[in-house]
Amino acid sequence: MPKTTLPSISEIKKQFPQFSFAENEIFHWSPQDNCVYYDEAELYRKEGIFQLLHELGHALAGHTNYTSGIQLLKIEAEAWKQAKDLATSYGLKISNKQIERCLDSYRDWLYLRSACPNCETVALETEANHYHCFNCMQKWKVPADQRTRHYRLKLVNQLTN
Ligand SMILES: [Zn+2]
Ligand SMILES: [Zn+2]
Repeated sequence: MPKTTLPSISEIKKQFPQFSFAENEIFHWSPQDNCVYYDEAELYRKEGIFQLLHELGHALAGHTNYTSGIQLLKIEAEAWKQAKDLATSYGLKISNKQIERCLDSYRDWLYLRSACPNCETVALETEANHYHCFNCMQKWKVPADQRTRHYRLKLVNQLTN
């Protein structure tokens, strides 16, 4: 395999002056700050760059805060599509398999939060973060920010192999 050169963060910053970029221990896009946060220590490897391009994908797609689990899945898929195009422009390739693996984690997450704590039936999200099981009539609420730090880190690690 020919060795491809990874784009540098300064190169990426220059290419997207409409966004700010800042170091953070967690890769994420903040619509409030108009800022892509990245973990500098991860940028020496392809997976770190892919994660950065993914967050940039959210930025380019104009994603704001998600309100429901289903919407989250949709915007994650969109961000990966953008990331894939960006990667191509740098001569890198993000495989569909890698993308699917990431989306699967979100699907698992979605499943976990929507399984009824009482009878385990997959319930309906009636409004943002509120669930209602039509099997046993149980209602519950999930925290809005369940994409916790360790959860997102796990995602990054899953990109690794
Ligand atoms: Zn994302
Ligand atoms: Zn139930």
